[in-house]
Amino acid sequence: MKVPVYMDYHATTPVDPRVVEAMLPYFTESFGNPASRQHRFGWITEEAVESSRSTIAKLVGAESKEIIFTSGATESNNLAIKGIGEAWKQKGMHIVSVQTEHKSVLDVCKKMEKLGYQVTYLPVDEYGLIDIDRLKHAIMPKTILVSVMVANNEIGTIQNIAEVGEICHEKGVFFHTDASQAVGKIPMNVREMGIDLMSFTAHKIYGPKGIGALYVRSSNPKVKVAMQMEGGGHERGMRSGTLNVPGIVGFANALELCSQSMDEDSKRLSNYRDKMVAAFSSQLDGVYLNGHPTMRLPNNLNISFTYIENDALMMSMKDVAVSTGSACSTANPEPSHVLKALRLPQERLHSAIRFGLGRFTTEEEVDYVVNRVVENVKKLRELSPAYQSRFAGRTAAVYN
Ligand SMILES: *Cc1c(COP(=O)(O)O)cnc(C)c1O
Repeated sequence: MKVPVYMDYHATTPVDPRVVEAMLPYFTESFGNPASRQHRFGWITEEAVESSRSTIAKLVGAESKEIIFTSGATESNNLAIKGIGEAWKQKGMHIVSVQTEHKSVLDVCKKMEKLGYQVTYLPVDEYGLIDIDRLKHAIMPKTILVSVMVANNEIGTIQNIAEVGEICHEKGVFFHTDASQAVGKIPMNVREMGIDLMSFTAHKIYGPKGIGALYVRSSNPKVKVAMQMEGGGHERGMRSGTLNVPGIVGFANALELCSQSMDEDSKRLSNYRDKMVAAFSSQLDGVYLNGHPTMRLPNNLNISFTYIENDALMMSMKDVAVSTGSACSTANPEPSHVLKALRLPQERLHSAIRFGLGRFTTEEEVDYVVNRVVENVKKLRELSPAYQSRFAGRTAAVYN
């Protein structure tokens, strides 16, 4: 077993060697610009792009022409929200989203507010779920878009997306979802779930970084999105710029591999996850699971080890790569906006650790991480006066 052990698969994943293999020819021999319609170099890569687009579309229940390639989920979220905002401004300037969304949704929403749009940020319960009645009431005649993520990147909670889709269609508003953590890990079907726009990205599913997609529904209803990148009119005019051919080929290959092993991976990883929970709670007290106990990603575990600081715990085990939450905001020592939205007691906010399991996680690694965490939580708690007075009875006097 190699250290450090990687258990941060929500931040990113290594590219599967089979994906690298599939991509390689498109860096060298088959390097043509797919927009070059006049010669064979272009035809070859156009064919590769279109076959990848069709693979990706099928695996999420879409049609090929509904898949717009972008640089990743951040760009897809920007394109969806800004693009709908701009195109449907005449109809209304109200957007509904959720407090626990990824920053690339929340920060775009903030930008929209600066531009004069009104945004309702739905609260969540202690498990991270939105209240469907609250969503219904938040939708007004001037609402144009609802943006609710499928699975949360910090706590793994999975929303009832089909229900959200149904409400949005009843009320005649567009439904966008950030499915970055869900696609490839749990079954996703844009038609069955009533999704109008869906962001997803290759690097969370063992594909390369810098390539993602936005699904944009083409019928019932046809969704019009204003382009946010002007230029050569690629991607049906919705996103200009020469296509990242190796990235697109890798993205399709990665998604195909995920869907082939989804059931198996999901069973294996949720077993590991349950084993970790059982080990932590039998060997430590003051351990709390964050997120929903059952409606959650198979590969996510977010746990508070109360009476320790999560930063201190991570520093004490540099041979284990875990995270306190979102990789995009770790410069900020504040507890994450997601945990805050759960309105948990203060001591749970500061002691939360996110474990992200993935394709290359082994049982040996799971056992190693459990042991390292238990050992270091115990050590840190020995130094914590608050813990000593709470749990250790008479010894408390020594520390107070
Ligand atoms: C990783 C992630 C993103 C950002 O995706 P990029 O491709 O890195 O831009 C957006 N939303 C969620 C939920 C994510 O997990």
